[in-house]
Amino acid sequence: MDLSQGTPMVAIPGPSILPDAVRAALGRAMPDIYGGGLVDLAFGLLDRLPDIARTSGRAFIVASNGHGAWQMAIANTIAPGESVLALESGRFAVFWGAAAELAGANVEILPGDFQNPVDPATLEARLRADTDKSIKAILVSHVDTSSSVRNDLPALRSAIDAARHPALLMVDCIASLGCDRYEMDEWGVDLTVGASQKGLMCPPGLGFVWAGERALAAMDPDRPRVSYLDWSKRLDPQMFYEIFAGTPPVAHLHALEAALGLIDEEGGLEAVWARHQAHADAVRAAVAAWASPGGLSLNITSPAHRSNAVTTVQTGDIDANELRRRCAEQAGLTLGIGMVINPNHTFRVGHMGWHNPPMVLGTLATIEAALSSMGAPMASSGIAAAAASIGEALNRE
Ligand SMILES: *Cc1c(COP(=O)(O)O)cnc(C)c1O
Repeated sequence: MDLSQGTPMVAIPGPSILPDAVRAALGRAMPDIYGGGLVDLAFGLLDRLPDIARTSGRAFIVASNGHGAWQMAIANTIAPGESVLALESGRFAVFWGAAAELAGANVEILPGDFQNPVDPATLEARLRADTDKSIKAILVSHVDTSSSVRNDLPALRSAIDAARHPALLMVDCIASLGCDRYEMDEWGVDLTVGASQKGLMCPPGLGFVWAGERALAAMDPDRPRVSYLDWSKRLDPQMFYEIFAGTPPVAHLHALEAALGLIDEEGGLEAVWARHQAHADAVRAAVAAWASPGGLSLNITSPAHRSNAVTTVQTGDIDANELRRRCAEQAGLTLGIGMVINPNHTFRVGHMGWHNPPMVLGTLATIEAALSSMGAPMASSGIAAAAASIGEALNRE
């Protein structure tokens, strides 16, 4: 029967659930776009954003989704004909590489698989083989949302340094910002890309790029540039209007202000990361309890490389599309589609942004109910395991 009447739960890996404070901020009236409070708001946000990526570099806000932020990163650092190495550990760095290729770069994919992080030794060997140092930039996802892997960025940085290679390290943190610990400067990252609609709790529509000194130095005034994405005017505006290359995305800026306020209220990024870890641990505990031959298992092999933002679950012989259908149509829970390995036998649970135990435990209990309705094999109760995991977290400082 259909039990779905009630507040729906959307547990896909972005867009994530909007907090009430963010929804209220979106409804505010439009201000003057040439002066007044909006100017202070915009400069205030641009000043605060470096903290979110843990960098002393510059932040740029582009009115776009994550793909637009990818494009801004490429347009300002890579010229047609230059070489780029995209590191595969799921789908997204490869998609970013495809965007660079369309912009004229020579893109090579460093092959990986969909269950493990990028191997630092493989990267080091590839860079050592690049004897004339022609690779201009390395593209990698911090968290790849399709596989739910979290790459070890310090290890990749060490591999680049060991090969004494000058390539820019450019990292897609669209899924990880506000979910998994990220330290741009400490980890030696040159450029970071983000978006508003995942851990940052806003609607889709804002892209972010953080550029360190080496990425800013890659700008070349002599190459053809893309006016909307170009950094130079945004860095040195003659008038406020130029910071966003046109009318600012006002409602989204109000939303971002509210979302950053929620991060402050919670106690800052460290507290936000700890909450994500607690919820991700509960999801993983549930899947581990369910795991059985022919049944569910976690996609990422090594526990150290599982993201706290999203969990990709393989379903063995169970039809993942039917599981998602029962959850959505009969129980009001929307799960993420499979994107890797065998997509019809894979689903994803997003646990990014605005989440608390009722939401996460409710999600897991609903999945268990749907599995039970399908007669799916389960070794033991995921609900009990998840509740115990959350219980342990409640006892932490
Ligand atoms: C969601 C996501 C993207 C794509 O973002 P869009 O806003 O859909 O363009 C890119 N990379 C990663 C890692 C993502 O999670």
